[in-house]
Amino acid sequence: MSTDDKSKLTTSWGAPVGDNQNSQTAGARGPTLIQDVHLLEKLAHFNRERVPERVVHAKGAGAHGYFEVTQDLTAFTKASFLSEVGKQTPLFVRFSTVAGENGSSDTVRDPRGFAVKFYTDEGNYDLVGNNTPVFFIRDAIKFPDFIHTQKRHPQTHLKNPNAVWDFWSLSPESLHQVTILMSDRGIPATLRHMHGFGSHTFKWVNAEGQASWVKYHFKTEQGVQNLAPSVAAQLAADNPDYHTEDLFEAIKKGDFPAWKLCVQIMPLEDANTYRFDPFDVTKVWSQKDYPLIELGRMVLNRNPENYFAEVEQATFSPGTFVPGIEASPDKMLQGRLFAYGDAHRYRVGANHQALPINRPRSEVNTYQRDGQMRADDNGGGSVYYEPNSAGGPSETPAYKPAAFEVSGSADSVVYDHHDHYTQPGDLYRLLSEDERERLVQTIVGAMKPVEQDAIKLRQIGHFYKADPEYGTRVAAGLGLSIPE
Ligand code: NDP
Repeated sequence: MSTDDKSKLTTSWGAPVGDNQNSQTAGARGPTLIQDVHLLEKLAHFNRERVPERVVHAKGAGAHGYFEVTQDLTAFTKASFLSEVGKQTPLFVRFSTVAGENGSSDTVRDPRGFAVKFYTDEGNYDLVGNNTPVFFIRDAIKFPDFIHTQKRHPQTHLKNPNAVWDFWSLSPESLHQVTILMSDRGIPATLRHMHGFGSHTFKWVNAEGQASWVKYHFKTEQGVQNLAPSVAAQLAADNPDYHTEDLFEAIKKGDFPAWKLCVQIMPLEDANTYRFDPFDVTKVWSQKDYPLIELGRMVLNRNPENYFAEVEQATFSPGTFVPGIEASPDKMLQGRLFAYGDAHRYRVGANHQALPINRPRSEVNTYQRDGQMRADDNGGGSVYYEPNSAGGPSETPAYKPAAFEVSGSADSVVYDHHDHYTQPGDLYRLLSEDERERLVQTIVGAMKPVEQDAIKLRQIGHFYKADPEYGTRVAAGLGLSIPE
């Protein structure tokens, strides 16, 4: 059999298969023989078809596309893929819900993951954000506890509104994200009809080594559209994969979704005096203070060929930076710099970055060797340590991260700004009367199953502090009065 003969079924070790329908037995009615090694291999591989599901963001849909620079911002960053107007960079995007399992419904009320992998000419850059500009918590040390409340009760295996609202009411920094989640934008109409955000503050560094703080906004060119809860519930029953299907079908028929990528840029020194801590991911930077500046355009124009190989095995990490883009001291980001890579090493393996979907398009020269599922030549016989006198790859000092001055004592310190209420209040006040009414109805519906009034009253207090009308309307909907 020639190696390119695609018509002959083979075993996984390449030998032609004689019978793929009937297993070998001892006599026509006898037991199955262990010598049918093709059968053994087939069953054994089937048992191993799943990699561990992501603990969060398990249900996802992905697509390939490109990014094109539309405005020169080289005054702020030396990132090579942003170096000239018109420059295009291939990319892969994975959208996801957060709390549900791999088979769960797309049309639930949940933030959506919005993860972009830019295959730049100086390595991969991952922008791993959400469809909301803020997050529920602002210190990674709270993340496992927070996600426990979003997942299932350890005894009943049911979702648990008591835990959800207990945690939120005891973590008032969540109020801003809770308000966005409970608003109309909590259930996007499709993955194409939502914005994306880097959410965290990042650092940009230009060719002169000067740094600025930056926030990213992907603005949907399709317009923001949302689903009414009743429509979303019906879709969840009729077509749990509605968003996945919509994205695939749109791209298949050539209706390529696109987003404008904008940034807000803050001079480094403003971080010391801005009225909110600009590294606190529960806060936005007002666009009145730091207007959006257009940077480029992202277009999704190619569906994956294989879901598992591309969407499931895609590994994103907010720590996957390229020269010119660095971390900020945002405590949630700092935790994620560790957590994402760690999740992928556990879930996909130590060599996850060498898989075709994750492999940089630029040259990779490391001294990493071996590890499970090393599928390339493992560096062959080349030098495998550094420093060496064999002329192996060596560091380029010009690419050192920008120095950043710090001061103070090593300690567990609370964020220095405790205003959890102004920005959720601003959001409430920018909603129309109809939007406010739906927001309150949604919150009331979500809080009704909470068993303890003490939790409800604590949370009503937070809504009230954001805007007295907001708190009063939620309280009325729950048949409670405003606590002292
Ligand atoms: P601006 O008026 O400059 O910006 C308001 C922002 O709110 C716009 O980005 C707009 O996005 C967005 N927005 C409009 N309607 C809704 C909605 N129903 N749900 C969620 N977002 C909406 O004011 P500020 O920058 O001072 O922000 C005021 C409040 O707006 C903030 O407290 C925050 O809650 C919210 N917001 C702010 C963002 C920011 O980066 N500053 C980003 C998103 C929300 P669009 O017009 O594209 O829909």
